[in-house]
Amino acid sequence: MTTETTDKKSSKVENFEFQAEAKQVLQLMIHSLYSNKEIFMRELVSNGSDALDKLRFAALADDSLYEGDGDLHIEVECDKEAGTVTIRDNGIGMDRDEVINNIGTIARSGTRKFLEALSGDEKKDANLIGQFGVGFYSSFIVADKVTLTTRKAGDDKSAGTRWESAGDGDYSLETLELEKHGTELVLHLKEGEEEFANDMQLRSIITRYSDHIGFPIKMSEEVKIDEEDENSATKTEWYDVNKASALWTLPKSEISEDEYKTFYNHISHDFGEPLTWIHNRVEGNQSYTSLLYIPTEAPVNMLVNREDRQGLKLYIKRVFIMDAAEQLLPHYLRFVRGVIDSDDLPLNVSREILQDSPLARKIQAGLVKRVLDTLEKMAKNDAEKYQVFWDNFGQVLKEGMVEDMPNQQRIAKLLRFASTRNDADTQSISLDDYISEKAEDQDDIWYISADNPAAARHSPHLEVFSRDKVEVLLLSDRIDEWMMGYFRQYGEVNLKSVAKGDLSKKEDDAETKDDSAVDELLYTRIAEVLGDKVSAVKASKRLTESASCLILDENEMALHMQRLMEQAGQALPHSAPALEINPEHAIFKKMEKEQDVERFADYSQLLYEQAILAEGGQLEDPAGFVHRINKLLV
Ligand code: ADP
Repeated sequence: MTTETTDKKSSKVENFEFQAEAKQVLQLMIHSLYSNKEIFMRELVSNGSDALDKLRFAALADDSLYEGDGDLHIEVECDKEAGTVTIRDNGIGMDRDEVINNIGTIARSGTRKFLEALSGDEKKDANLIGQFGVGFYSSFIVADKVTLTTRKAGDDKSAGTRWESAGDGDYSLETLELEKHGTELVLHLKEGEEEFANDMQLRSIITRYSDHIGFPIKMSEEVKIDEEDENSATKTEWYDVNKASALWTLPKSEISEDEYKTFYNHISHDFGEPLTWIHNRVEGNQSYTSLLYIPTEAPVNMLVNREDRQGLKLYIKRVFIMDAAEQLLPHYLRFVRGVIDSDDLPLNVSREILQDSPLARKIQAGLVKRVLDTLEKMAKNDAEKYQVFWDNFGQVLKEGMVEDMPNQQRIAKLLRFASTRNDADTQSISLDDYISEKAEDQDDIWYISADNPAAARHSPHLEVFSRDKVEVLLLSDRIDEWMMGYFRQYGEVNLKSVAKGDLSKKEDDAETKDDSAVDELLYTRIAEVLGDKVSAVKASKRLTESASCLILDENEMALHMQRLMEQAGQALPHSAPALEINPEHAIFKKMEKEQDVERFADYSQLLYEQAILAEGGQLEDPAGFVHRINKLLV
């Protein structure tokens, strides 16, 4: 894979190939970001600023890492003639292995996921790029060759590394002596992209995208040594382009909407706009500043990656310490992005200390409160915006119903459901909406949980409710059945599943059917045929059209959930549902007269099997089912 050549200084130049997938990502990225070229600058400045943060943090323990060069900053230069743009930082730098791992492997393990997640929609795809950490490669949108020279702070001067690539499949590596620690990137601009080798242009891009970065970004100009003298020699003078004050440290009144938004792009890697943000300063015996963002769109892996949490940067007295989402945000708020800057945590705080620190718990409680307050306000004042939030993050927020019991009622207020009230499956009805619409004599909130929206909406369990015009909430997210197991009361009102237990209240309301007409013996016979598949067979008060349905005890897990857990290899105690039969149904009438024992058994089986199918289940013996149906059809 590698070929070796030797350069003048006799250091080895080795050539490497990118992984096959990396080439593809690179091509896609260059293509999908073409209309948004200048973002390469934001990505590279962002990397530089991260590298400065990392050095400042490492130097807390060992300030010799600064190597006498503690004036942390980023430099940007261009050369019109050569057609290059240079971005330089005196941050942490990288050693050779890090260059190979971080730069030589595009997006690392994220590459495949990135390819899978591409939608073909340019704007959406552009948003994905940051999430998968291919930020550095955005340089190839404008450059046809990139030279990265770097040395890790504290390493020997001879341990510098030069990486170079044309972005077309391979790269070269070379070891060389570097006086200064940090990283320098030279972009050799493509033909047609010369506009970027222009100070004015670069300055305007930096102020647009990176004004809020907490380190100075410097550019240079040639000034005459003697201003009076026309022929004076010139010298290079560096000046600051950005404000270089960490955005969150400024008073709210001094920050514009645009500044908040670009800062969001910087910390989240999301190119889109945030849905909202919350900027607060807490004073007192614990002082800290928080700037939290709720994104508009969910990151691709949010539901899957419960454990891989990032996006809340912890600073202590302006020094970046670590990403502390895990320690400072509960799982169910893992979509929140932002910055916490504490005045009181010790600078040498570790993850472990943070995990157990009462101060961290206090900060977490404060953040949770602020996020919930904000969501409540949004739900109240801007339902449309809240709906966007709910559609993207509702499923994650639902985890809080179990994870954060003390806040359960607050979170419950924020839940939105699909309902028999609407034809669409959009989740837009709140529990308060439900309560305000229900009949005065209706005590409970009714819901059904099923595998998918259609199974919920068409469940036979809803029949009597639709006849009596009682609204039922339709739950079909994976998490719902689990959540409802922990959520029995909203305020004073009970939540009840239409598929579980007795319909006590409903039963009284429904027109009482004439039980005496029903042959108890018939139920016993059906029960005998079905054996331990069912716990009981009885007359139903829920069905108006269907012939049968399955019913669970109040505390039993819905059947679709039981199936899911069994598939996942979880042993569950055997629980057989009860079979309820509609005594008014023609099949039942037929059975009353059926003399043939075998046909009676077939009818009994079919009643059971159709109840299973109606709630989305799978039959143990589908061929037997077909056989029975055919027998009765001819
Ligand atoms: P991301 O920044 O999202 O991780 P990048 O492709 O931009 O993805 O960078 C990959 C990695 O390369 C970074 O995580 C960092 O470790 C390293 N890196 C990039 N630029 C620099 C730099 N200027 N100084 C030090 N390390 C850097």
